[in-house]
Amino acid sequence: MNDAGRFSALALESVERRYGRGETAVEVLNGASLALYSGQSVALIAPSGAGKSTLLHLAGLLERPSAGEVMVAGKATSAMTDDERTALRRNQIGFVYQFHHLLPEFSALENLVLPQMIAGLPRAEAGARARELLGYLGLAARETHRPAELSGGEQQRVAIARAVANGPRILLADEPTGNLDPKTANHVFGTLAALVKATGLAALIATHNLELAARMDRRVTIRDGQVVEMA
Ligand code: ADP
Repeated sequence: MNDAGRFSALALESVERRYGRGETAVEVLNGASLALYSGQSVALIAPSGAGKSTLLHLAGLLERPSAGEVMVAGKATSAMTDDERTALRRNQIGFVYQFHHLLPEFSALENLVLPQMIAGLPRAEAGARARELLGYLGLAARETHRPAELSGGEQQRVAIARAVANGPRILLADEPTGNLDPKTANHVFGTLAALVKATGLAALIATHNLELAARMDRRVTIRDGQVVEMA
């Protein structure tokens, strides 16, 4: 796809990230650039230790680069205060991890309602949005279930719904189906891909699953600290 001229939801611009100093310093990212566009899912495929988590943390404003810029929704973030970065993260970025991290003592519905209420939405509105999302993800009959009463695939679909409950523009996922059997992974991934298209999210998904990666719009890897497009 030709992305020339399109406004990117997320852009890493010549990002550098090193850990430590002097002779023992590890240069993980060294001029890494990547642009993510609305309605597009991008697979991040790279061997362990290549820097996938580092890149996701930088993109998610959980860490700051040693050099370079991270643009979120058109805003340069490097000069922002921690509070400004946190606000931008809350409004614009959703996260999905390999393990769902749902609150165990709350129902699926409540797990979606809480982050919206924390963001300032009234309970009724948050509830309506939560029901809509759970319905969209095929979980209408699971609203009152707690995470332990859900299957692995259902838990992960609730985690995806929670990640987008506050209407972020960007979704970052770290091995979101890594803990699921192939059939369930395939189903969860299909749901995620449909959600990206339906809501115009820009999604960056780290995965080792090449079959699923092949179904995404783009594939990138990290080579010598830089982001490289794959076929
Ligand atoms: P991946 O997610 O692709 O496995 P990471 O981003 O976790 O890779 O790590 C990339 C490299 O950076 C690894 O060599 C790792 O040891 C190193 N690294 C990551 N975090 C730190 C840290 N906090 N301190 C020192 N080295 C780190």
